Order: sequence, then structure tokens, then C-alpha cells
Amino acid sequence: MDFAISYTKEQDQFRQEIRDWIAENVPEDMKEPIDGRDFTEGQYRFWREKHKELAAKGWLYPTQPKEYGGGGLNGEHETIILEEFDRARVVRSFSGALVIPPLLVWGTEEQKQKFLVPFLTGEKATWQRLTEPQSGADLANVQAKAVRDGDDWLLSGQNVFISGRPRPEWTPSGPNYLHGMAVTDTDAPRHRNLGFFLVPVPSPGLEIREMNLLPGHDQHAVFMDNVRVPGDHLIGGDHQGWQVFQTLGEVEHGGGGSAFPSDEAVDNLIAYNQQTKLRGSSVGSDPLAQQVTMNAYIDAHVDGLFAKRTYWMYENRKDIVFEGNVANVHNRDYECRNAIRMREVMGMYSLLDVQEPGAPHGGAQEVYQRDKAGQRHAGGSTNIARVILARRLGISRTQERPAPTPSSTAANSGS
Ligand SMILES: Cc1cc2nc3c(=O)[nH]c(=O)nc-3n(C[C@H](O)[C@H](O)[C@H](O)COP(=O)(O)OP(=O)(O)OC[C@H]3O[C@@H](n4cnc5c(N)ncnc54)[C@H](O)[C@@H]3O)c2cc1C
Repeated sequence: MDFAISYTKEQDQFRQEIRDWIAENVPEDMKEPIDGRDFTEGQYRFWREKHKELAAKGWLYPTQPKEYGGGGLNGEHETIILEEFDRARVVRSFSGALVIPPLLVWGTEEQKQKFLVPFLTGEKATWQRLTEPQSGADLANVQAKAVRDGDDWLLSGQNVFISGRPRPEWTPSGPNYLHGMAVTDTDAPRHRNLGFFLVPVPSPGLEIREMNLLPGHDQHAVFMDNVRVPGDHLIGGDHQGWQVFQTLGEVEHGGGGSAFPSDEAVDNLIAYNQQTKLRGSSVGSDPLAQQVTMNAYIDAHVDGLFAKRTYWMYENRKDIVFEGNVANVHNRDYECRNAIRMREVMGMYSLLDVQEPGAPHGGAQEVYQRDKAGQRHAGGSTNIARVILARRLGISRTQERPAPTPSSTAANSGS
């Protein structure tokens, strides 16, 4: 039996079209740098424009609904696009993909036209404003307040670790919005006391400061002091913010899967084993290095299968209960395991950064070590992801059902 993946003639032509576009449009110095800290303002400006071109071709958000600026393509198209983009180090959209599901499920038609269309066409961007100094793992413990003022709301509060490109001082400045929750009713019970807002940027009373963390400069602290937010920037009802967030969380925590899960770090580790000589033999012929590397390889493959399964289920509107959470926890745990394995096989070479002339693979391993240090917390901690999984499997004090997503509701997922 032949298990190889085969593509149709139409799909091969589609792939060629993408390769031709990349060859004509993406010069070497505009490709995603190995170390995100080396991403320049020039590259940012270049990609802001290129993303609009990609959106017009339907390649920026391939499977999102065409009527709102998405590509209206299918999962196979998206897989091919991501394969080619990954290979060519094409810089991904700045828009903030995670806000798309809640806008599709909870937004009114006017809000979809006003907010969703410019995100999907690459015109505007939003950052995720969730974590506060006092509410991270316990996310519902939001302290930010939203007070009614006529048709508007006045928001006050603080956030930390808010990810996003570009740097605050770059032009054109980004983001255009910050999406997240604030308490709209201090008397209402937990989970029924929040609204979900798109806060316009810039706004009087709003300050965004860069946080220089181990992975780089892409996290920020946010300060809001009576920031005026128009009434139509509230998504869902004024007590439904937690439910709106749950739709976002469902997809962020693995529920959307991945069309093209790749692991360049493991590819590099295999190449290192093959190509690097140690006392006359390749590193890979050392029994210990071999065992460790194969564990890294197996983990990466299992992870890819989890991610593809969930992607297939999401695109085909199957009931996803725990599959996304399993993939999410496995993904972040195995990458941490592989960071350690990389150090075991490569020793100090794994810590040589992009500036070092002798760094294997241009210093990618050193970037990996720093990135994975925060991996168990970025996107919600893996401990809490396990708590959610336990609830889904029915072994916890509390039971939990999956939140609605564009895949599980009538909201059009586009394909
Ligand atoms: C690189 C990076 C990027 C990020 N980007 C964003 C972003 O764009 N937007 C955003 O809003 N946030 C972002 N975050 C923040 C991230 O979501 C939080 O770090 C995460 O939710 C955990 O919150 P905390 O750091 O406040 O940890 P805490 O809430 O202080 O928890 C500390 C530790 O205790 C554990 N813990 C707490 N309660 C329990 C429990 N009941 N059971 C078991 N273990 C528990 C946690 O897992 C954690 O390990 C980012 C973080 C990082 C590192």
C-alpha cells in the first residue's frame, strides 16, 4: 500500500503559483530572521504592504470567509501555502488571528464589516490584552474596570506580557486595537461580570511599554487610565465577555489545530547528527546522541499528527472535545523536552547565538533555548491547560464543555 501524500494537478499548479510569487516578491533580506530580535523596521514596513497583496490573492487567511476578506480556500490549499511560506521564511500576518473566531461567532454584521474585514485584509492589527499582574493562570480574576459613560465605556487597568510586533516607536504604528476583557458589573458573579472590548490605539490615557524578556522585545506592558472606548467596540453583551473569550481560548488552546506543523529545530538536530564529526565519526553514531535525537524526532512526529488531526476535525466541523487540549499540552511540553535534548547532543554549541561565526544552523538553537523558556506560559500555562483537559475528560470537580467556535456553529468558517 502506498501511504505517500499525492497532490492533484490543480494543487501542483497552485504550489507553483506560490513559489513563483515568492521568487518575484520576497528578497533574501526581507525573510524572517532566525532571531526575532533582528526583525527591522524596514522589514516590518515591507511586510505590512505585502500582507495586503497576499490577502487580495486569498493567501493571508486562506480558509476564512471570502465575504469578510478571507481566502475562502480549503484546508489543502492552506497546507500548501503554509508549506511554501515556511520554506521561504515568509513573515506571517500581524493582524492578530485569534480575534477572528470571536468576531465570527459573537460579532454583529456591522462589527464584522468594521473590525473583521480590515484584520483579514491585512489593513489593521490587534494585540491580545488578557494577562494582568493579578490574573494570569486565573484569567477570570480580571481587575480592569469598564464604566459606562453615555454610549461609551471608560476603561482603566493594567496588563503584562502582551505580545505583538512592531516596536511601539515604529511607523506605521501598530496595533490599531487591543482586544480583551474588563469588569462591567462589580456586583455580578464571576464569569458573568465581564465585557470583551476592542480598545482603539492610540487613545488618550493609554500607554504601551516594551518589556525586554528572554525571547526578545515582543512583549509589552499596557496601562489604561479612563480610556474612552465607543459602545460598538464591545463584542457580545456587556455581561458576556467571558463567553466571548472562551471562543478565542478554544482555538488558541489547540482547538483549531495546524495545517502544516513543522519542526525546523528537529530537522536541524538530525542534520547536526549527520554532518558534525566527533573523533572521526558522525555525532549520530554515538549511541547516546542517537537515542536522545530519536526521542526528539518521535515527539515531533507525534505532535504533528495531533495538530493535523485537530486541524482536520476543525475544518470538517467535527465535534472537538479534548483533542485540541491534548495537542496543546503535548506541543508545549515536547518543545521544552527537545530544548534539553538539543543541549545534551550539541553541548555548548546549542548556546552559540546568531552573532557567533561558528554557531550551527546560524544560531537557531540558542534562539530555541530562550523561546522555549517561556513556552509553558505563553498562550496560557500548561498547568491550566491540564486543568481544562481534566474537566473535559470528566475527572475534575467541575465539568466543562467546549465553547462555540466558527467550526461548531453556524458562523461561516469559510471552507
Ligand atoms: C512569551 C510570552 C508571551 C505572552 N503573550 C501574551 C499575550 O499576547 N497576551 C496576554 O494576555 N498574555 C500573554 N502572556 C502571558 C501568559 O498568558 C501568562 O504568563 C499565563 O497565562 C500565566 O499567567 P502568569 O504568568 O500570571 O502566572 P501565574 O498566574 O502567576 O501562575 C504561576 C504558576 O502557577 C501555576 N498555577 C496557577 N494556578 C494553578 C492551578 N490552579 N493549578 C495548577 N497550576 C497553577 C501556573 O501554571 C504557573 O506556572 C505571554 C507570556 C509569555 C511568557
